[in-house]
Amino acid sequence: MNHVPHPPEPINCHNFIGGSWTAGNGAAIEITSPYSGAVIGKTHASTRADIDQAVAGAVEGFAAWSAKPLKERCQTMFRFRELLLRDKQSIAARISLENGKTVGESLAGLMKGIEVLEFALSIQNMDQGGRMEVSRGVFCEYRRQPLGVVLAISPFNFPAMVPMWMIPIALTVGNAFVWKPSEKTPLTAMLIADLLKEAGLPDGAMTVVQGGRETVEGLLDHAAIKAVGFVGSTAVAEAVYRRGCSNGKRVLALGGAKNHIILLPDADPEMAAVGISDSFTGCAGQRCMAASVLLAVGQVDGVIDKIVARAESQQLGQTMGAVISAEQIAFLCDAVDEAVAAGAVIRAGHNYRETQPVDELYRNGFWFPPVILDNVAPDSRAAREELFGPILSIVRCDTFSEAMAIENANPYGNAASIFTNNGAMGERLAKEAAAGMVGVNIGIPVPREPFSFGGINRSKFGHGDITGATSLDFWSDLKKVTVKWQMQTDHNWMS
Ligand code: NAD
Repeated sequence: MNHVPHPPEPINCHNFIGGSWTAGNGAAIEITSPYSGAVIGKTHASTRADIDQAVAGAVEGFAAWSAKPLKERCQTMFRFRELLLRDKQSIAARISLENGKTVGESLAGLMKGIEVLEFALSIQNMDQGGRMEVSRGVFCEYRRQPLGVVLAISPFNFPAMVPMWMIPIALTVGNAFVWKPSEKTPLTAMLIADLLKEAGLPDGAMTVVQGGRETVEGLLDHAAIKAVGFVGSTAVAEAVYRRGCSNGKRVLALGGAKNHIILLPDADPEMAAVGISDSFTGCAGQRCMAASVLLAVGQVDGVIDKIVARAESQQLGQTMGAVISAEQIAFLCDAVDEAVAAGAVIRAGHNYRETQPVDELYRNGFWFPPVILDNVAPDSRAAREELFGPILSIVRCDTFSEAMAIENANPYGNAASIFTNNGAMGERLAKEAAAGMVGVNIGIPVPREPFSFGGINRSKFGHGDITGATSLDFWSDLKKVTVKWQMQTDHNWMS
């Protein structure tokens, strides 16, 4: 049973500055539950004055937090992990409430975030610097240093997991962290910030600033912020990357995606049907790793029939969650209409304009069924652009090379997968795909830590990945210290 309890009153969601919750002074923002369409929270955007106050608090937090030895910081982060595990059910319920995904999906995202935290805890064991006698009596060593106050801007689709790609590593190396959550899903951030405080993080080392575009721009213009991690759509990622870089900051900005799955005739039918279905319907298709184009090579109709059957058996509000807003439903409906007008055939989800959830309670929520479009033209919008909903566009191909050419021509570069029983075809995809993350018989090829997360091409602006070893370098500097001592005995007692 997927039940998402609603608060009796809308939650007041503020900025977290210097360890206390305090309201911003910008425009009021309502937070709506995709399950019910009800207002579940209220927040305010942050003005430039609010941002100045927040960053000043973070500067103080940095002084306190960075003064602690690495091992002590790890102990605080370890307590944070214990607290996340203690509260995982209530955090998952909060994620579902504001984002619309099922509670099981919320829990899975949180656990992936905890996996990154576990990676961060291993920094003390794997990153002990390096020291070498480079010539007689002269020693060189590396010392990893935090940058200062750093910023993360996160999207609505993973209110805990995406921020948790950044928070544990950036904090463990000693930075003070300023987090600007999505204004659509800012409520989960309250729970996470409170748990960090409970774990013993000094006031100001975690700051939460609410708002949308103007708040982001104010933060990007603030001189005290040294580095920016961004995750969201490609247009915004590129704008944030440019503005942050031109203000002299280090920026890594992950953008949107259009992920392809190649289905070959020799694939295991059950494994392929389950993997492809889960990939495009999971989190109602609102995952940057979701499959959205199925490149069906040759005669694979048996598998497609199974995918259609699985799509039609989904129960909205039970096995599948809601999409983020009524505007997004209108956008998805228009995209389906446009694809049909261009010659695509609807195989599943014919009633997409009047879908209802199983539970009467959620009748006013934002529901959209899994839609499968067949015979989609490779150059149409449904095959080329990110729609961010549970829509699978099937493009028919005669050969693997034809499928590969379509995948390669797409400007995004997050994920690509193949379903086949032929290892050599899997190897070809791994070699030839224009994607940062590749799967063989895996519908959502998210690497498990310590293998890092990150796409290429227009799915990422900047260098390195957002988790794993390169993220450690992103959130810190390596200081090189060279020391020379006279290796002689000036006093008798030294001999
Ligand atoms: P979005 O780009 O609309 O918003 C992301 C963040 O940027 C939010 O905090 C928002 O307040 C802020 N923002 C929005 N417009 C802005 C502007 N003009 N200037 C400055 N800041 C702005 O993204 P979203 O709709 O919240 O999330 C969905 C998108 O995120 C999809 O495109 C999805 O593919 C992408 N995403 C990518 C990854 C990845 O790893 N590559 C992961 C998750 C989501």
